[in-house]
Amino acid sequence: METRHHDVIVLGAGVSGIYQIKRLADLGIDAIVLEADEDLGGTWYRNRYPGARFDSESYTYGYSFSKELLNEWHWKERFSSQPENLRYLNYVADKFDLRRHMRFDSRVESMTWHEDERRWHLELPHGESYTARFVVTGVGVLSVPTLPRYPGIDDFAGDSFHTYWWPKDPVPLRGRRVGVIGTGATGIQVIGDIAEKVDVLSVFQRRPNWTTPLNNSLISEQEMAEIRARYDEIFANCALSPGGFEHVPDRRGFWNLSKEQRIAFWDELYDKPGFAILAANFPEVFLDETANREMSEYVAGRIRGRVDDPRVAEKLIPRDHGFGMQRLPLETRYFEAYNRDNVHLVDLSATPIERITRSGIQTTAGHHDLDLIVYATGFDAITGAFDRMKIRGVDGRFLGDKWRDGPSTCLGIMTHGFPNLLMVAGPQSVSGSTNFPRAIEGGVDWVTGLLEHALECGHRRIEAQAEAEREWLEEVVRVQERLLLRRSKGWFTGYNANVDGHQQGQIRYQAYFGGAPRYKAFLEQEAADGYPRFDLS
Ligand SMILES: Cc1cc2nc3c(=O)[nH]c(=O)nc-3n(C[C@H](O)[C@H](O)[C@H](O)COP(=O)(O)OP(=O)(O)OC[C@H]3O[C@@H](n4cnc5c(N)ncnc54)[C@H](O)[C@@H]3O)c2cc1C
Repeated sequence: METRHHDVIVLGAGVSGIYQIKRLADLGIDAIVLEADEDLGGTWYRNRYPGARFDSESYTYGYSFSKELLNEWHWKERFSSQPENLRYLNYVADKFDLRRHMRFDSRVESMTWHEDERRWHLELPHGESYTARFVVTGVGVLSVPTLPRYPGIDDFAGDSFHTYWWPKDPVPLRGRRVGVIGTGATGIQVIGDIAEKVDVLSVFQRRPNWTTPLNNSLISEQEMAEIRARYDEIFANCALSPGGFEHVPDRRGFWNLSKEQRIAFWDELYDKPGFAILAANFPEVFLDETANREMSEYVAGRIRGRVDDPRVAEKLIPRDHGFGMQRLPLETRYFEAYNRDNVHLVDLSATPIERITRSGIQTTAGHHDLDLIVYATGFDAITGAFDRMKIRGVDGRFLGDKWRDGPSTCLGIMTHGFPNLLMVAGPQSVSGSTNFPRAIEGGVDWVTGLLEHALECGHRRIEAQAEAEREWLEEVVRVQERLLLRRSKGWFTGYNANVDGHQQGQIRYQAYFGGAPRYKAFLEQEAADGYPRFDLS
């Protein structure tokens, strides 16, 4: 089979890949996107489970690059749902005629750097292959779903789906006995959505998560017109806030206020939409054990106030981590679900799952007969998609070996020993810890600037310097170590009991927690100084 060549190959047609190919196409650069799935959308193509929606405000999530697009698109809900998000990404791709640059059903299985040619060789299934001078990855940080390790998973005779692989055709819920395994961000969305639709809902919880109300609402024509008029201000606000949202931290000082004042403030935040309770809270809550304990106790009180059975309420309150130390899921009617007669909480810390059977789930306390099992068990986050590709760099060095104990990058954009491989929203960039698309646009613009510079100057090789990479790792570690989240068992710190090498005790520095403005300043300075952290030749 003939090997095809392009100057730039972009991997992945999600939010990152769509904008990256737009920028390259506009510059007339010879580039294509290779996408593993049969269509575009990434996260929003796959996660079709009931309740899947943004927890970023829709209008801060959408692309900012085109005034025309901003004027045309009407977000119907403050936190838009998966079908609408997928429609939006299709609208963008069609509006800018981007599909013609995309090749679907094209999973890159391996990539090898050929120093003599200064090219990457990319291998796809069935003997298909490409070469490229530069490869830009937009392979996603939550794109490799993980299943638990229970015996008997394949024995179950009913329907069972990981939330990521939820089918396109409607899945019947009425009259069915459903088990949901997992109470992270996806489990919490599913449970709130299906509790009143199913006959019986059994929630299998290993560890509870802190979660607070999403407070979603519809956006009328009139409100959308006001949002449109405010877009410049909205994106300027996002660029200035650490989280890439409009919410800004409250800097009055936790200890300068009385406890009553703090509680009155948290009452306000609890009723506000989205991540306000996280991103508009006092910074001390995330830095100081005592402040965090008080905040955690406040949220525990709200849980006790919403769950009728005090024994169930206590089981839903996390004890192993404080509020905001793991990625905060946002919920709609989640705690009220447990007040329903058809919803049962199964505490796996007391009665673990022994196996999946032909007809349901066997725990140490008994058997649960089920028609449908939902695996809301998350992802091999941040480095998973890289680990699934066999990437070999200079002298055949395997990226999986280099990153065995955790990723190491220069500015979250490149890694030494792997020339001409650029990452958008990759490990140790700020995307994973903020409102993704804001940092994705920044990352794509920066990578495009570097590629333009290299192509204009006739450079054929770009490599991150080893010393610059060590310095970036120090910065990543330093900011993470200041935060209480450094000790949490979640994907921010690389924990996943279902992935070898990601068990607790092996903290990985996966994302950059220095905030969006600080990250942007690093990137801007680097470009203004002529890319001193990179060797261009
Ligand atoms: C349920 C859910 C809800 C979320 N909600 C929010 C939110 O409210 N706000 C927010 O900021 N972020 C949210 N996120 C994070 C979300 O992933 C990002 O917002 C964004 O969609 C990431 O876009 P991306 O293009 O970088 O990656 P993805 O959307 O993950 O796309 C990656 C693409 O790369 C493809 N790919 C992977 N490996 C290969 C390969 N080897 N070869 C070819 N193609 C490959 C995949 O098939 C996929 O299409 C959510 C994530 C999930 C899972």
